[in-house]
Amino acid sequence: MTYPIQGSCQCGSVKYTLLAAPQLIQACHCLECQKLSTSAFSVTAVVNASSIKFEGEMQEWRRPADSGNISAAKFCPTCGNRIYHFNPAEPDAIKLKPSTLSDTSIIKPTRHIWVSQKQHWYQIPEGVVTFEKQGA
Ligand SMILES: [Zn+2]
Ligand SMILES: [Zn+2]
Repeated sequence: MTYPIQGSCQCGSVKYTLLAAPQLIQACHCLECQKLSTSAFSVTAVVNASSIKFEGEMQEWRRPADSGNISAAKFCPTCGNRIYHFNPAEPDAIKLKPSTLSDTSIIKPTRHIWVSQKQHWYQIPEGVVTFEKQGA
């Protein structure tokens, strides 16, 4: 895979450039992520804030996370596409929603968390790390 890779929301108002490979790609099976993704799990690519450049106006929504941290979400105000999450106490770690990338072939989660809440019809692939809850 060669970087940079471009990404955008569904309507194109928010664009970004991913300059380097994510540090980690994980799937989360918690009920909040099922609601967010309208699917059985959400996928997150953890990238350093210096490795991604955003363009366009985003709106923010915050909720308390199970860990006691704040989970802040950035999304497109026009089409509603979720772009990334972050913990305001750790602003360097961008939790990108990588389904917005123009090339989604990099999205292969190696870690699955909150498998205690996963849909029974979904089978975790072999060879990935799993956690019942948030994980370390
Ligand atoms: Zn949009
Ligand atoms: Zn989750």
